[in-house]
Amino acid sequence: MSKQEFDDRVDRAVRAAHGSWTNILKSLTGDHPAFNGKNQACPICRKGVDRFRYTNQHGEGMYFCHQCGPGGPFKLLQGITGWSFLQALERVEAQAGVVATSKPESNEPPTQERMKKLARKIWNQAVPVKAGDEVDRYLRGRGLGMAQYPDALRFHPALGYFEKIGDAKSRQIAEYPAMLARIDGADGEALTLHRTYLQDGRKAPLPDAKKVLSAGVNGAAVRLFKPTDKLGIAEGIETALAVHLSSGMPVWAGLSAGNLEKLWLPDSVQCICIYADNDGNSAFDGQASAYALARRLKKEFKRTTDRQVQVFVPKQDGTVWADVWLSRLNKPRRVA
Ligand SMILES: [Zn+2]
Repeated sequence: MSKQEFDDRVDRAVRAAHGSWTNILKSLTGDHPAFNGKNQACPICRKGVDRFRYTNQHGEGMYFCHQCGPGGPFKLLQGITGWSFLQALERVEAQAGVVATSKPESNEPPTQERMKKLARKIWNQAVPVKAGDEVDRYLRGRGLGMAQYPDALRFHPALGYFEKIGDAKSRQIAEYPAMLARIDGADGEALTLHRTYLQDGRKAPLPDAKKVLSAGVNGAAVRLFKPTDKLGIAEGIETALAVHLSSGMPVWAGLSAGNLEKLWLPDSVQCICIYADNDGNSAFDGQASAYALARRLKKEFKRTTDRQVQVFVPKQDGTVWADVWLSRLNKPRRVA
Protein backbone atom coordinates (compact mmCIF):
# COMPACT_ATOMS: atom_id res chain seq x y z
CA MET A 1 0.00 0.00 0.00
CA SER A 2 1.49 3.36 -1.03
CA LYS A 3 1.75 6.31 1.33
CA GLN A 4 -1.09 7.98 -0.57
CA GLU A 5 -3.29 4.89 -0.33
CA PHE A 6 -2.61 4.62 3.35
CA ASP A 7 -3.43 8.31 3.90
CA ASP A 8 -6.68 7.81 1.99
CA ARG A 9 -7.50 4.83 4.15
CA VAL A 10 -6.93 6.84 7.35
CA ASP A 11 -8.96 9.69 5.89
CA ARG A 12 -11.87 7.35 5.13
CA ALA A 13 -11.84 5.93 8.65
CA VAL A 14 -11.79 9.45 10.13
CA ARG A 15 -14.76 10.50 7.99
CA ALA A 16 -16.74 7.40 8.86
CA ALA A 17 -16.05 7.85 12.57
CA HIS A 18 -16.88 11.55 12.54
CA GLY A 19 -19.35 12.45 15.25
CA SER A 20 -19.19 8.93 16.72
CA TRP A 21 -15.72 9.01 18.24
CA THR A 22 -16.90 8.94 21.84
CA ASN A 23 -18.92 5.76 21.32
CA ILE A 24 -16.18 4.13 19.27
CA LEU A 25 -13.44 4.96 21.77
CA LYS A 26 -15.53 3.88 24.73
CA SER A 27 -16.43 0.58 23.13
CA LEU A 28 -12.82 -0.15 22.11
CA THR A 29 -11.49 0.58 25.60
CA GLY A 30 -14.17 -1.11 27.68
CA ASP A 31 -15.69 2.21 28.75
CA HIS A 32 -12.41 3.73 29.89
CA PRO A 33 -13.05 6.81 32.13
CA ALA A 34 -10.81 9.01 29.90
CA PHE A 35 -13.86 9.84 27.77
CA ASN A 36 -16.10 11.21 30.52
CA GLY A 37 -15.15 14.82 29.66
CA LYS A 38 -13.77 15.49 33.15
CA ASN A 39 -10.29 16.72 34.04
CA GLN A 40 -8.10 13.82 35.11
CA ALA A 41 -4.65 12.23 34.98
CA CYS A 42 -3.29 12.00 31.42
CA PRO A 43 -3.46 8.53 29.81
CA ILE A 44 -0.74 9.58 27.31
CA CYS A 45 2.00 11.04 29.52
CA ARG A 46 0.54 9.04 32.42
CA LYS A 47 1.02 11.83 34.94
CA GLY A 48 -0.87 14.46 36.92
CA VAL A 49 -4.33 14.48 38.44
CA ASP A 50 -6.28 16.96 36.29
CA ARG A 51 -4.07 17.94 33.36
CA PHE A 52 -6.03 15.94 30.78
CA ARG A 53 -9.48 16.37 29.36
CA TYR A 54 -11.28 14.69 26.46
CA THR A 55 -12.97 17.54 24.54
CA ASN A 56 -14.23 15.74 21.41
CA GLN A 57 -14.01 19.12 19.67
CA HIS A 58 -16.08 19.26 16.45
CA GLY A 59 -16.94 15.59 16.93
CA GLU A 60 -13.35 14.67 16.04
CA GLY A 61 -12.38 12.79 19.22
CA MET A 62 -9.85 15.42 20.34
CA TYR A 63 -8.26 15.78 23.78
CA PHE A 64 -6.08 18.30 25.51
CA CYS A 65 -3.33 17.75 28.06
CA HIS A 66 -1.69 20.72 29.78
CA GLN A 67 1.59 18.82 29.81
CA CYS A 68 1.87 16.87 26.55
CA GLY A 69 -0.49 19.05 24.52
CA PRO A 70 -3.47 18.44 22.26
CA GLY A 71 -4.07 15.29 20.24
CA GLY A 72 -6.55 13.16 18.36
CA PRO A 73 -8.41 9.89 18.85
CA PHE A 74 -5.77 7.52 17.45
CA LYS A 75 -3.03 8.80 19.73
CA LEU A 76 -5.41 8.58 22.66
CA LEU A 77 -6.50 5.06 21.76
CA GLN A 78 -2.87 3.95 21.37
CA GLY A 79 -1.98 5.58 24.70
CA ILE A 80 -4.71 3.71 26.54
CA THR A 81 -4.44 0.32 24.86
CA GLY A 82 -0.79 0.13 23.81
CA TRP A 83 -1.85 -0.78 20.24
CA SER A 84 0.19 0.20 17.19
CA PHE A 85 -1.30 2.83 14.89
CA LEU A 86 -2.28 0.12 12.41
CA GLN A 87 -3.99 -1.97 15.10
CA ALA A 88 -5.88 1.10 16.28
CA LEU A 89 -6.87 1.97 12.71
CA GLU A 90 -8.16 -1.54 11.97
CA ARG A 91 -10.32 -1.55 15.07
CA VAL A 92 -11.69 1.92 14.41
CA GLU A 93 -12.50 0.86 10.84
CA ALA A 94 -14.42 -2.14 12.10
CA GLN A 95 -16.35 -0.01 14.60
CA ALA A 96 -17.13 2.70 12.05
CA GLY A 97 -18.24 0.14 9.46
CA VAL A 98 -15.44 0.82 6.98
CA VAL A 99 -14.22 -2.15 5.00
CA ALA A 100 -10.48 -1.70 4.58
CA THR A 101 -9.54 -2.35 0.95
CA SER A 102 -6.51 -4.41 1.89
CA LYS A 103 -8.29 -6.55 4.46
CA PRO A 104 -10.49 -9.59 4.06
CA GLU A 105 -14.12 -9.12 5.02
CA SER A 106 -13.74 -11.24 8.12
CA ASN A 107 -12.35 -8.16 9.84
CA GLU A 108 -15.80 -6.61 9.96
CA PRO A 109 -18.13 -7.19 12.88
CA PRO A 110 -20.43 -10.06 11.93
CA THR A 111 -23.64 -8.27 12.96
CA GLN A 112 -23.01 -5.40 10.56
CA GLU A 113 -22.29 -7.80 7.70
CA ARG A 114 -25.46 -9.72 8.53
CA MET A 115 -27.51 -6.52 8.50
CA LYS A 116 -26.07 -5.55 5.12
CA LYS A 117 -27.03 -8.96 3.75
CA LEU A 118 -30.56 -8.63 5.11
CA ALA A 119 -30.84 -5.14 3.60
CA ARG A 120 -29.71 -6.50 0.23
CA LYS A 121 -32.25 -9.33 0.41
CA ILE A 122 -35.17 -6.99 1.19
CA TRP A 123 -34.02 -4.52 -1.47
CA ASN A 124 -33.93 -7.30 -4.08
CA GLN A 125 -37.49 -8.33 -3.21
CA ALA A 126 -38.62 -4.79 -4.06
CA VAL A 127 -39.09 -3.18 -7.47
CA PRO A 128 -38.64 0.31 -8.94
CA VAL A 129 -41.51 2.66 -8.11
CA LYS A 130 -44.07 2.88 -10.93
CA ALA A 131 -47.21 4.91 -11.59
CA GLY A 132 -50.17 3.42 -9.71
CA ASP A 133 -48.28 1.38 -7.11
CA GLU A 134 -48.64 2.06 -3.36
CA VAL A 135 -45.52 4.23 -3.18
CA ASP A 136 -46.66 6.33 -6.13
CA ARG A 137 -50.11 6.72 -4.56
CA TYR A 138 -48.58 7.75 -1.23
CA LEU A 139 -46.20 10.28 -2.76
CA ARG A 140 -48.84 11.64 -5.14
CA GLY A 141 -51.09 12.16 -2.13
CA ARG A 142 -48.44 14.43 -0.69
CA GLY A 143 -47.99 16.34 -3.95
CA LEU A 144 -44.75 14.51 -4.67
CA GLY A 145 -45.71 12.50 -7.75
CA MET A 146 -43.00 12.15 -10.39
CA ALA A 147 -42.87 10.72 -13.91
CA GLN A 148 -39.74 8.87 -12.90
CA TYR A 149 -38.78 8.21 -9.30
CA PRO A 150 -35.20 8.08 -8.00
CA ASP A 151 -33.43 4.69 -8.11
CA ALA A 152 -32.77 5.01 -4.38
CA LEU A 153 -36.51 4.40 -3.76
CA ARG A 154 -38.31 1.11 -4.27
CA PHE A 155 -41.71 -0.43 -3.73
CA HIS A 156 -42.01 -3.56 -1.60
CA PRO A 157 -45.43 -5.21 -2.01
CA ALA A 158 -45.52 -7.03 1.35
CA LEU A 159 -42.87 -6.18 3.90
CA GLY A 160 -42.93 -7.83 7.32
CA TYR A 161 -43.73 -5.54 10.23
CA PHE A 162 -42.09 -6.58 13.48
CA GLU A 163 -42.94 -5.66 17.02
CA LYS A 164 -41.16 -6.37 20.24
CA ILE A 165 -43.44 -7.61 22.98
CA GLY A 166 -41.93 -7.32 26.43
CA ASP A 167 -38.42 -8.77 26.59
CA ALA A 168 -39.16 -11.33 23.91
CA LYS A 169 -37.47 -11.27 20.53
CA SER A 170 -39.34 -9.11 18.03
CA ARG A 171 -41.91 -11.01 16.02
CA GLN A 172 -43.54 -10.37 12.69
CA ILE A 173 -47.12 -9.29 13.35
CA ALA A 174 -48.24 -8.26 9.86
CA GLU A 175 -47.21 -7.42 6.31
CA TYR A 176 -47.69 -4.09 4.60
CA PRO A 177 -46.69 -2.54 1.30
CA ALA A 178 -43.72 -0.26 1.91
CA MET A 179 -41.53 2.43 0.43
CA LEU A 180 -37.89 1.43 0.75
CA ALA A 181 -35.06 3.94 0.60
CA ARG A 182 -31.48 2.81 0.13
CA ILE A 183 -29.05 4.36 2.62
CA ASP A 184 -25.54 4.70 1.21
CA GLY A 185 -22.36 5.05 3.26
CA ALA A 186 -19.49 7.39 2.42
CA ASP A 187 -18.10 4.82 -0.03
CA GLY A 188 -21.38 4.86 -2.00
CA GLU A 189 -22.22 1.31 -1.00
CA ALA A 190 -25.65 0.44 0.33
CA LEU A 191 -25.43 0.21 4.10
CA THR A 192 -28.99 -0.35 5.14
CA LEU A 193 -32.59 0.61 4.34
CA HIS A 194 -35.25 3.02 5.52
CA ARG A 195 -38.79 1.68 5.47
CA THR A 196 -42.09 3.52 5.32
CA TYR A 197 -45.03 1.15 5.84
CA LEU A 198 -48.07 2.11 3.80
CA GLN A 199 -51.79 1.43 3.74
CA ASP A 200 -54.43 2.78 1.34
CA GLY A 201 -52.09 5.37 -0.12
CA ARG A 202 -51.08 6.71 3.28
CA LYS A 203 -48.56 6.05 5.99
CA ALA A 204 -49.79 2.93 7.82
CA PRO A 205 -51.30 3.59 11.28
CA LEU A 206 -48.48 1.89 13.18
CA PRO A 207 -46.34 3.05 16.10
CA ASP A 208 -43.24 2.66 13.93
CA ALA A 209 -44.47 3.32 10.40
CA LYS A 210 -41.11 4.80 9.46
CA LYS A 211 -37.90 3.16 10.52
CA VAL A 212 -34.34 2.37 9.62
CA LEU A 213 -33.51 -1.33 9.36
CA SER A 214 -30.38 -1.24 11.52
CA ALA A 215 -28.41 1.09 13.75
CA GLY A 216 -25.12 2.71 12.80
CA VAL A 217 -26.24 4.90 9.90
CA ASN A 218 -23.51 7.31 10.93
CA GLY A 219 -23.36 10.03 8.31
CA ALA A 220 -24.86 7.88 5.53
CA ALA A 221 -27.69 9.32 3.40
CA VAL A 222 -30.47 8.47 0.98
CA ARG A 223 -28.90 9.77 -2.23
CA LEU A 224 -32.05 10.60 -4.16
CA PHE A 225 -30.39 12.65 -6.90
CA LYS A 226 -26.87 12.91 -8.23
CA PRO A 227 -25.17 16.06 -6.92
CA THR A 228 -23.81 18.68 -9.30
CA ASP A 229 -21.64 21.39 -7.79
CA LYS A 230 -24.80 22.01 -5.77
CA LEU A 231 -26.53 19.77 -3.28
CA GLY A 232 -29.61 20.23 -1.13
CA ILE A 233 -29.86 18.41 2.20
CA ALA A 234 -33.07 17.62 4.04
CA GLU A 235 -33.94 15.37 6.94
CA GLY A 236 -36.92 13.45 5.59
CA ILE A 237 -37.32 11.72 2.22
CA GLU A 238 -40.60 13.52 1.50
CA THR A 239 -39.04 16.90 2.29
CA ALA A 240 -36.08 16.13 0.05
CA LEU A 241 -38.47 15.29 -2.81
CA ALA A 242 -40.47 18.48 -2.18
CA VAL A 243 -37.32 20.60 -2.31
CA HIS A 244 -36.29 18.89 -5.53
CA LEU A 245 -39.67 19.44 -7.14
CA SER A 246 -39.78 23.11 -6.18
CA SER A 247 -36.16 24.00 -6.96
CA GLY A 248 -34.87 21.37 -9.38
CA MET A 249 -31.91 20.93 -7.07
CA PRO A 250 -30.37 17.50 -6.43
CA VAL A 251 -31.22 16.60 -2.82
CA TRP A 252 -30.19 13.95 -0.31
CA ALA A 253 -32.09 12.90 2.80
CA GLY A 254 -30.23 12.51 6.10
CA LEU A 255 -33.23 10.79 7.79
CA SER A 256 -32.80 12.03 11.36
CA ALA A 257 -31.64 15.15 13.14
CA GLY A 258 -28.90 13.17 14.85
CA ASN A 259 -27.59 11.80 11.58
CA LEU A 260 -27.94 15.07 9.64
CA GLU A 261 -25.11 16.75 11.45
CA LYS A 262 -22.76 13.83 10.77
CA LEU A 263 -23.62 13.61 7.07
CA TRP A 264 -20.82 12.79 4.66
CA LEU A 265 -20.78 14.97 1.53
CA PRO A 266 -18.62 14.67 -1.59
CA ASP A 267 -15.79 17.17 -2.04
CA SER A 268 -17.06 18.14 -5.50
CA VAL A 269 -20.06 19.99 -4.05
CA GLN A 270 -19.40 23.73 -3.86
CA CYS A 271 -22.76 24.98 -2.70
CA ILE A 272 -24.83 23.30 -0.02
CA CYS A 273 -28.38 24.28 0.90
CA ILE A 274 -29.71 22.73 4.08
CA TYR A 275 -33.51 22.57 4.29
CA ALA A 276 -34.12 22.25 8.03
CA ASP A 277 -37.22 20.94 9.76
CA ASN A 278 -38.79 23.56 12.02
CA ASP A 279 -38.99 21.87 15.41
CA GLY A 280 -39.76 25.18 17.10
CA ASN A 281 -42.75 23.65 18.87
CA SER A 282 -40.51 21.08 20.58
CA ALA A 283 -36.78 21.10 21.38
CA PHE A 284 -35.51 22.69 18.11
CA ASP A 285 -33.79 19.43 17.09
CA GLY A 286 -34.29 20.12 13.38
CA GLN A 287 -32.80 23.59 13.48
CA ALA A 288 -30.00 22.60 15.85
CA SER A 289 -28.79 19.72 13.67
CA ALA A 290 -29.09 21.78 10.46
CA TYR A 291 -26.92 24.51 11.94
CA ALA A 292 -24.54 21.95 13.46
CA LEU A 293 -24.07 20.50 9.97
CA ALA A 294 -23.65 23.99 8.46
CA ARG A 295 -21.11 24.85 11.12
CA ARG A 296 -19.14 21.67 10.59
CA LEU A 297 -19.14 22.09 6.80
CA LYS A 298 -18.00 25.71 7.10
CA LYS A 299 -15.12 24.70 9.36
CA GLU A 300 -14.10 21.83 7.10
CA PHE A 301 -14.23 24.05 4.04
CA LYS A 302 -12.04 26.68 5.57
CA ARG A 303 -9.23 24.19 5.26
CA THR A 304 -9.89 23.50 1.57
CA THR A 305 -11.88 25.95 -0.56
CA ASP A 306 -14.58 28.43 0.25
CA ARG A 307 -17.78 26.61 -0.42
CA GLN A 308 -21.16 28.13 0.31
CA VAL A 309 -23.45 26.79 2.98
CA GLN A 310 -26.96 28.07 3.55
CA VAL A 311 -29.71 27.00 5.93
CA PHE A 312 -33.41 27.45 5.18
CA VAL A 313 -36.02 26.97 7.90
CA PRO A 314 -39.78 27.05 7.24
CA LYS A 315 -41.44 29.96 9.05
CA GLN A 316 -44.08 28.12 11.00
CA ASP A 317 -43.18 26.12 14.10
CA GLY A 318 -43.70 22.40 13.72
CA THR A 319 -43.59 22.34 9.93
CA VAL A 320 -41.23 20.88 7.35
CA TRP A 321 -40.67 21.99 3.74
CA ALA A 322 -42.83 19.10 2.49
CA ASP A 323 -45.80 20.73 4.33
CA VAL A 324 -45.01 24.11 2.79
CA TRP A 325 -44.86 22.51 -0.66
CA LEU A 326 -48.19 20.71 -0.22
CA SER A 327 -49.98 23.82 1.10
CA ARG A 328 -48.73 25.82 -1.89
CA LEU A 329 -50.02 23.16 -4.27
CA ASN A 330 -53.42 23.15 -2.61
CA LYS A 331 -53.75 26.92 -2.54
CA PRO A 332 -55.54 28.43 -5.52
CA ARG A 333 -53.07 30.27 -7.74
CA ARG A 334 -53.04 34.01 -7.24
CA VAL A 335 -53.22 35.99 -10.45
CA ALA A 336 -50.62 38.73 -10.45
ZN1 LIG B 1 -0.29 14.36 28.96
